[in-house]
Amino acid sequence: MLLIHGSQTPVASSIGIAVTGADASTSEELMRNADIAMYSAKNEGKARCRVFESSMHSIVLERVALQSDLRHAIERSELELHYQPVIELVTGRPLGFEALVRWNHFERGMIQPLEFIGLAEETGLITPIGDWVLAEACRQLVQWDDAGVTDGRFGISVNVSGRQVADADFVDTIARTLAATELDPRRLTIELTESTLLEDAEATIAWLSLLKEVGIRLALDDFGTGFSSLSYLRRLPVDCLKVDASFVRSINESGGGGELALAVVNLARTLRLRTVAEGVEHAHQAEFLTRSGCRFGQGYHFSRPLPRGEIPAFIQGALLALNGGDEQSTGGEALTPELV
Ligand code: C2E
Ligand code: MG
Ligand code: MG
Repeated sequence: MLLIHGSQTPVASSIGIAVTGADASTSEELMRNADIAMYSAKNEGKARCRVFESSMHSIVLERVALQSDLRHAIERSELELHYQPVIELVTGRPLGFEALVRWNHFERGMIQPLEFIGLAEETGLITPIGDWVLAEACRQLVQWDDAGVTDGRFGISVNVSGRQVADADFVDTIARTLAATELDPRRLTIELTESTLLEDAEATIAWLSLLKEVGIRLALDDFGTGFSSLSYLRRLPVDCLKVDASFVRSINESGGGGELALAVVNLARTLRLRTVAEGVEHAHQAEFLTRSGCRFGQGYHFSRPLPRGEIPAFIQGALLALNGGDEQSTGGEALTPELV
C-alpha cells in the first residue's frame, strides 16, 4: 500500500518470465517474450507471474490488430447500439431501454462488448466510444418520440466504465449531450457498477452528486456482486439497483433460490430505490420478481437486445398485447414521467 494524497493505494506487480530456446535466440527476442508474458499476466487479472508460451505470441498479435481496428471503428461507422426493452413487471408495459454497444467489424462480423470494452479502456478509446454511445442513445430516444414510438414515460439507460467516470469532462459531456439532443435529463439513466466507483467514499459521493445535479438518474448495475458496505450504499445518491442476473438465474420453478433477489429488492425498498431485475429468462422468474415487489425487469423472457430498426414493431406488438388491439393508448398527451 502507498499513501497518496491521504488515500491508501494498493500496488501490485505483474511478472513475465522468458527463457532462451527455440522461441528466443537473441536478447531482443527474449525481452519481447518476457514482455508478452507480462501482458498475459496483466490480462489474467494482474498481480501474478506468467512464463512465456509460444501461443501467447499470436494472442498478443491478435489484440494489437484488434486495437488498431478499434481506433477506426467510429469513423468507419462500425459501432452500433442494440436496445433491450425494460418492462414494468406488474403491467407488462415496456417503459425504457438499455443501450448496449456492438462492434460490427468489417472482417470479423459482430463483436460483443465484453470482447472489446476492456481493450477500449486500456487504450483510452473508451472516451470517444462512450461519448458516441451516449449521444447516439439520447438521439435515438428523441427520434422515437418524434416518430410516436415512445413517449415521455420512456427512459434510456447507458453503461459507463470506470475510465470514463474518471475523466474530468464526463459531467460536462453529459450536460452537453442532453442540451444538444433536448432530452429531458430525468429520462437518462447512467449505469455504474460497484467496481467503477472510486475507493475513496467521500470523493465518489461528491462526484456522483455533481452528476445528479445535471438531473439524470443513476443505477448500480450487477448489484450484489460487488462489495459496497450498506452504510456506503445508503449515502450514495443513486436512484436504482439492478438485481444481478446471477440472483435471477437461481430462482427455480418452485419459487426456491430467490432469496438473494428478494434481499436486494427489500434492501432497495428500505432505501427507497427502484429495482430492475436483469437476465429474466423465464416466466416463473418474472412472476417471482413481480410478487417480490421488483418494479422492472429485462431479459430474454421479454426480449433480447434488438437493433434499433426492430424496436418500433416490438413496442407496437407489446402495446397491442396489453391493450387488446387499442394501440393508441400510449397517446402523446402530457404524461407524468414514469421513468425507469
Ligand atoms: P450489463 O450492463 O450488465 O448488460 C447486460 C448483459 O446481459 C448484456 O450483455 C445483455 O445482452 C445480456 N442479457 C440481457 N438479458 C439477458 C438474459 O436474459 N440472459 C442472458 N444470459 N444475458 C442477458 P452484452 O450486451 O454482451 O453486454 C455485456 C456488458 O458489456 C454489459 O453488462 C456492460 O457492462 C458492458 N457494456 C455494454 N455496452 C456498453 C457500453 O456502451 N459502454 C460500456 N462502458 N460498457 C458496455
Ligand atoms: Mg447495464
Ligand atoms: Mg448488468
